[in-house]
Amino acid sequence: MDPDSFKDYAKDMAEYITDYLENIRDRRVLPTVEPGYMKPLLPSEAPKSPEQWKDIMADIERVIMPGVTHWHSPKFHAYFPTAQSYPAILADMLSGAIACIGFTWIASPACTEIEVVMLDWLGKMLDLPKEFLACSGGRGGGVIQGTASEATLVALLGAKAKKIRQVKEQHPDWTENEIISKLVAYCSCQAHSSVERAGLLGGIKFRQLEVDEKYKLRGDTMAEAIRKDKEQGLIPFYAVATLGTTVNCAFDRLDEMGIVANREDVWLHVDAAYAGSAFICPEFRYLMKGIELADSFNFNPHKWMLVDFDCSTMWLKDLTYVINAFNVDPLYLKHDMQGSAPDYRHWQIPLGRRFRALKLWFVLRLYGVENLQKHVRSHIAQAHEFEALVLSDPRFEIVGEVLMGLVCFRLKGSNELNEILLKRINGAGNIHLVPSKIKDTYFLRFAVCSRFSKSKDIQYSWKEIKLRTNEVLEEQSL
Ligand code: PLP
Repeated sequence: MDPDSFKDYAKDMAEYITDYLENIRDRRVLPTVEPGYMKPLLPSEAPKSPEQWKDIMADIERVIMPGVTHWHSPKFHAYFPTAQSYPAILADMLSGAIACIGFTWIASPACTEIEVVMLDWLGKMLDLPKEFLACSGGRGGGVIQGTASEATLVALLGAKAKKIRQVKEQHPDWTENEIISKLVAYCSCQAHSSVERAGLLGGIKFRQLEVDEKYKLRGDTMAEAIRKDKEQGLIPFYAVATLGTTVNCAFDRLDEMGIVANREDVWLHVDAAYAGSAFICPEFRYLMKGIELADSFNFNPHKWMLVDFDCSTMWLKDLTYVINAFNVDPLYLKHDMQGSAPDYRHWQIPLGRRFRALKLWFVLRLYGVENLQKHVRSHIAQAHEFEALVLSDPRFEIVGEVLMGLVCFRLKGSNELNEILLKRINGAGNIHLVPSKIKDTYFLRFAVCSRFSKSKDIQYSWKEIKLRTNEVLEEQSL
């Protein structure tokens, strides 16, 4: 492709993207295709000679769009949001053009240095304790991981390395395998599946602890579990506090867990994958009370802060444990400036890394903190609007507290009735929701996801839910 064609095609693509996004509300949020739908639409082999751009553009609507679930439609209420914005798309274009692999400082100094500064900017926006920030000149600092799952695993591996070293100092005769077999970690039974997975990948035991009536893991529960484990000769080393659980956006008592973790010398990691973006608004920071007691903190700007996937920001109070946990140093990765700036390859699982900080830089500059706060507040206000609509209908009940942009609700009655309702809603395809379950209670999750979402969309979705409810209840009464 010659440069002039690139410019023309980029214009076509910008046109297509804006048309897609600005009119996304008009598309059916859930596709109707069946598995394997695409095979007959594509040739069985790659083309031998180049094809025409216009044919490729035409195939987006013919081949791709029929199988797209429109995550950015205001009618999409499933999971948690994934973020997206024009500034982030522009930054990704530039990242694609520079196309460096910034594993060490010298591999592309700008890639590393802007990441350090962006993580400081963002850390300050959240009012993180200064120990987490590189600019404080201490041992702390931030990094962009691909996902929250990676952050939880990286923190676990750092905690594991730290504890093994400490125990070895006290018991030089114990083998590493003996120590690892005694290590035990803690999280709430409501923690994301990626936390359990980090335990499996890290080869250590994870205890999933009971929560209180507000679905929060409390300090006493954790202290009791630690006491029992120590009695058995086990070594507590890591705990994860979830701020905004996936199931129903509950917040563990970080302040209580922090006191216990610090007392017991247990590494405390905070998983605020979704809700962390809300801490850019001072009025929601009460939910991260106790953050100064944590060792690592992670949230996904790619969920709720208008930065496209992938951008999962993680801060460490003392990064030496993590960077020493998987430090291998082949000659081809060494450079003369080692030690003067971060080499992010030591902070993460893969070696390669994209120029992801550009997305943060563009989004923070082109929106400004005020507009990002507005975005978060508007989603939370819309969630409360939906909550009020649910409460106005005596057939429904709310499950848990509505604190962020997620409302958990159900029809009063059996789980089966709610399962039928959800199937009916998703089957109609006008809006999309997913279910969840706590203990034996099945409920529906309504997340405000789209940056295009407005009050009229909430009203539309509620009308749709009421319509499907009427249908289901009528059928049930026959
Ligand atoms: N933790 C929580 C609380 C989540 O809600 C999620 C995903 O929704 C994750 C972790 C996993 O996030 P990721 O896909 O970035 O690994």
